[in-house]
Amino acid sequence: MNRNTSIQELRDYHDYWDILIIGGGATGLGCAVDAANRGYKTLLLDMHDFAKGTSSRSTKLVHGGVRYLQQGDVSLVIEALQERGLLIQNAPHLVTHQSFIVPSYKWWNGPFYGVGLKVYDALAGKLGLKKSKNLSKEKTLEKIPTLEPEGLSGGVIYYDGQFDDSRLAINLAQTAVDQGGTLLNYMKVTELIKNGMGYIEGVKARDMLNGEDYEINARVVVNATGIFSDSIMEMDDFEHQQMIQCAQGIHLVLDKEFLPGDSAIMVPQTDDGRVLFAVPWHGKVIVGTTDTPIKKPTLEPVALEEEIEFILKHAKEYLTKDPLRADVKSVFAGLRPLVKPEDAKSTSEISRSHHLQVSRSGLVTIAGGKWTTYRNMAEDTIDKSIAVAGLEFNKCKTRKLRIHGWLKNVDRDDHLHVYGSDMVALKNLISEKAEYEDKIHPDLPYLKGEVIWALRNELAVTIDDILARRTRALFLNAKAAIETAPVVAELIAQEFGYDKAWQEQEVKEFIDTAKNYVLE
Ligand SMILES: Cc1cc2nc3c(=O)[nH]c(=O)nc-3n(C[C@H](O)[C@H](O)[C@H](O)COP(=O)(O)OP(=O)(O)OC[C@H]3O[C@@H](n4cnc5c(N)ncnc54)[C@H](O)[C@@H]3O)c2cc1C
Repeated sequence: MNRNTSIQELRDYHDYWDILIIGGGATGLGCAVDAANRGYKTLLLDMHDFAKGTSSRSTKLVHGGVRYLQQGDVSLVIEALQERGLLIQNAPHLVTHQSFIVPSYKWWNGPFYGVGLKVYDALAGKLGLKKSKNLSKEKTLEKIPTLEPEGLSGGVIYYDGQFDDSRLAINLAQTAVDQGGTLLNYMKVTELIKNGMGYIEGVKARDMLNGEDYEINARVVVNATGIFSDSIMEMDDFEHQQMIQCAQGIHLVLDKEFLPGDSAIMVPQTDDGRVLFAVPWHGKVIVGTTDTPIKKPTLEPVALEEEIEFILKHAKEYLTKDPLRADVKSVFAGLRPLVKPEDAKSTSEISRSHHLQVSRSGLVTIAGGKWTTYRNMAEDTIDKSIAVAGLEFNKCKTRKLRIHGWLKNVDRDDHLHVYGSDMVALKNLISEKAEYEDKIHPDLPYLKGEVIWALRNELAVTIDDILARRTRALFLNAKAAIETAPVVAELIAQEFGYDKAWQEQEVKEFIDTAKNYVLE
């Protein structure tokens, strides 16, 4: 992927794009892959970086959602379990099988969750993973030695998928480009263009890196802007009533010593009825999450003090070693784009199913859903968009489409495994210069060569792109990410020919963002 090439494609194309997608999170990227793969002339624009929004801030689970089963949303669980199975097949370098243990502290927990998880296994059908089973207290503690033993009667082990969300987003962007699509980050849609009959026939967009404006024609425009969906719908209809309810979820990242071994913990119901996960991820443990209604959408949500206290309190209840604030390596927050029903009492009750609608002027809006179900959401959206645009119908083929980087049996102990089949080219690049083999920080696994790779091949432009989404430094160790920001700025400056003043300003901007990930 190369931004200059994409800009040139945009400038050189004077016809109607078949399908124009606004938003480069999981939903929009899935749509771009699907549309390009069906052979349509496809353009995707994101106002910031791919996955800067919700799609880099998830719990990193490719799952059916045990909680949705508890809530009786069986159709969502079946859909998500199917998609889990497909994603494991289509992106094996990024999605792994993860064992989860539900600890039992009440006599009825074991049989109750044991039966529920058997239903969960069955709903996955042919795409199921290993079967769940009940464990004795000894076996449970063998799997998770740091689990609080007092009152523990045993546990249930079950399996789900786990992934790296922003790496999958980058690989989806690459897949869309491989299929002939044109994708641009840092390109904000500022207006919708309508014809004399009031039908949408394109967008106005601004290049956020140089302020240049574009008018782009399209047969259909897809609004896949997650928590910002209402802002695009307001461009379409100034009387539009707000549809999205943002629900914030936060995670704390701890060192692996708090949860050694390979298994994750899943607490289906904390004392206030929420679900809590502690999951191994890239050599650390992520603990979350919360469900707090938030009024205004923002790309950089900040964890609330009460959310941090909630997670710490519950982590202490379930772990033998109490995590303290000083143990937290990073705290990150994300906003779920939930589609409001009239009658939900709390955000955790709102269904995570997706919502697709077409306005009178032909704007196709896709909102809600899950990372796990992005492919199916995209299939529905592109089917609908084809009809709105009056294009010839080509069938969706993404169920079996391998995602860029596809590689089986990767060595997950090598942090470069997330690049999948790009690893060979990346290693060639690293071997070009001795400096590229250097780590960017002693407490982070990432190499200088990876920064160069991201700048040359993955449309990275800023320090934040590199430390938050191409590598996951900011999410794994926020202090180290801040310390290494000048190193990354210098590499970007060398590559793009920027001066010292640019580097200083860029480092300052990154630190302003990154300090919200550090827990004092
Ligand atoms: C705390 C938390 C935990 C979660 N955990 C999981 C999980 O474990 N598993 C799972 O399956 N799902 C999970 N989810 C849900 C999942 O992350 C989301 O459903 C998904 O990421 C939403 O993607 P999206 O593309 O709709 O939105 P986003 O990722 O927010 O993308 C929207 C994009 O639109 C762009 N945009 C907005 N306005 C414009 C404009 N005017 N012009 C151009 N671009 C624009 C933004 O820059 C943004 O990049 C979780 C969500 C949260 C918040």
